Amino acid sequence: MGERFVPAQYQPPLPVDRLILNEGAEGAGDRMELDVLIVGAGPAGLACAIELAHLAQREHTDVNIGVLEKAEALGEHCLSGAVVSPRAFRELFPDLKDADFPFRGPVTQERVAFLTSRRAVTLPTPPTMHNAGNYVASLCEIVRWLGERAAALGVNVFTGFPAASLLVDGRRVAGVRTAATGLDREGRPLSNYMAPNDLTAKVTVLAEGTRGSLSQAWLEWQAVTSENPQIYALGVKEIWETRRPLDTIVHTLGWPVPTDAFGGSFMYPLEPNLVALGIVFAPHSTISPPSRYCRNSGCSFICWSSPWTSSAASW
Ligand SMILES: Cc1cc2nc3c(=O)[nH]c(=O)nc-3n(C[C@H](O)[C@H](O)[C@H](O)COP(=O)(O)OP(=O)(O)OC[C@H]3O[C@@H](n4cnc5c(N)ncnc54)[C@H](O)[C@@H]3O)c2cc1C
Repeated sequence: MGERFVPAQYQPPLPVDRLILNEGAEGAGDRMELDVLIVGAGPAGLACAIELAHLAQREHTDVNIGVLEKAEALGEHCLSGAVVSPRAFRELFPDLKDADFPFRGPVTQERVAFLTSRRAVTLPTPPTMHNAGNYVASLCEIVRWLGERAAALGVNVFTGFPAASLLVDGRRVAGVRTAATGLDREGRPLSNYMAPNDLTAKVTVLAEGTRGSLSQAWLEWQAVTSENPQIYALGVKEIWETRRPLDTIVHTLGWPVPTDAFGGSFMYPLEPNLVALGIVFAPHSTISPPSRYCRNSGCSFICWSSPWTSSAASW
């Protein structure tokens, strides 16, 4: 298996001077002022925008809310194939029924298995892994649906705009500067160069998901530390058409994840003959190089599941 590889030891220092700029710093094109600016149109950012818009409606107040998303279209940067608790949806949309939410279907049966390279042993489902009452869903579909709801409430969702820097005024976050476009590899402007834009707001919410660059820069700038080192996981997910319908969500432990790493796999039926099949593990210890390992283990895993699967539909 090769030499020891610990990702936490290979982190380049954050370019905080580029990620945090003083408001009014040179180089911006247009400028837009909002009341609330949310960075990241994932489930968290969109839920924040929707709840805020609901509150403003209830208070008969106009709040100008903007959500900035780096993906060209909503949902494109979200990892899909999920089993989702409906609780947050019910709280966010108390007037809707579960059937109105963008779910593929309820979890009807579940199984947890321990795998060896030759066998699958069914385990009692641990209490934290019970999914009765939850739904199988596609995260991209959820995000697109939330985006439509947000837009209907008057929220401005700007896709295709990565927030590249936090704009600050003293110790206050005043907004963000988007990334310039039309640069060559060395960062020099090409003929299609477009200057970055500044979006300022009374409140800026960072909802960038895991390890957002602006969130990390803010934490470093404000000297907010954590005693827990960052843990990384690698994943492979594919959508497979199956020969026979599946009605059970499956989680596995054990093979092909090595004994000195943690992780497991999931198999979520999206439609009777379509399944999201994935493996995620944290290669903290002795895996080198991790990308090759991940690919190989993904292949082995898919071989394991071959009695059920017939062909890959997408990945
Ligand atoms: C392999 C895997 C399987 C999972 N399975 C499940 C599951 O079955 N059930 C479940 O409930 N959860 C599951 N999760 C967890 C779930 O995906 C996350 O909890 C959820 O997506 C977090 O939402 P978020 O909005 O905080 O972040 P994200 O979903 O990561 O969204 C962040 C958004 O911000 C955008 N963004 C980031 N930085 C910037 C920037 N600087 N400028 C502009 N836009 C930016 C990104 O493009 C992205 O669209 C899983 C996660 C993984 C990795």
